[in-house]
Amino acid sequence: MEIKNGIVLGSSQYKDFDAITTILFEDRISSVLIKNAFNPNCINHIFINKLIFANLEIYQGKTNGLKLKTGKIINSFSSLRSDFDDLSILNFISELLLKCVFIDEYKEVYNLTLSILNGLSNHKDRIKSISYFLIKITKILGINLNLNTCVICGLKNNKFNLLSFKEGGVVCNNHYNQNENFLLLDSQELTALRKIYDLDDFTSFKELDTAFLFQYFLGLCEMIENNFSITLNSKNLIKYTHSRLT
Ligand SMILES: [Zn+2]
Repeated sequence: MEIKNGIVLGSSQYKDFDAITTILFEDRISSVLIKNAFNPNCINHIFINKLIFANLEIYQGKTNGLKLKTGKIINSFSSLRSDFDDLSILNFISELLLKCVFIDEYKEVYNLTLSILNGLSNHKDRIKSISYFLIKITKILGINLNLNTCVICGLKNNKFNLLSFKEGGVVCNNHYNQNENFLLLDSQELTALRKIYDLDDFTSFKELDTAFLFQYFLGLCEMIENNFSITLNSKNLIKYTHSRLT
């Protein structure tokens, strides 16, 4: 028997009403069987919901692995569940954490997820919050951007203004190609990104504007999708609602 805090990432229905629920703990991600949880009258019904933060009592069953005995909600982030735009962000966070493969960075991912959920509940700028989350996650996953030399010819320069997510970094003007997508950078944005990637210094993150961060967010999604051969379906919902997300 083990009692520990965890964040529900998602649930699938099993047999009539049982749930196989994937939970992010501080030290791992585990699947836990919750008997009868898809029955709305079951006391554990709440734990099938994405991104519920709870104190959970789990035990090793004789069959079928870990099982939930009981749990107490710590925070259900209920204010985020009644708003369609917030819900699109919750769906994105849960899909991302379910599809990416983490090795041993669970504690970092766990703390980051809680801090982003608390931030969203306090009505912080949604695009800023989700971009910050995604930059941190890509860094944890080891997906880096080269912001110091042209990724095609190796030219070193302080004034790059083209960023290619497909190529994984900045590109000099000689390698501009009108058939490809580039994100345009000004010198302030380049300096902020260099601090974030090279020094892990996020102090100038708040100076980046929302329109830029939204394009940056979509570019990072593309990088993750290419690196892991996955599709992040919920990013399309964020795209659709992004005009309202700030
Ligand atoms: Zn070049």
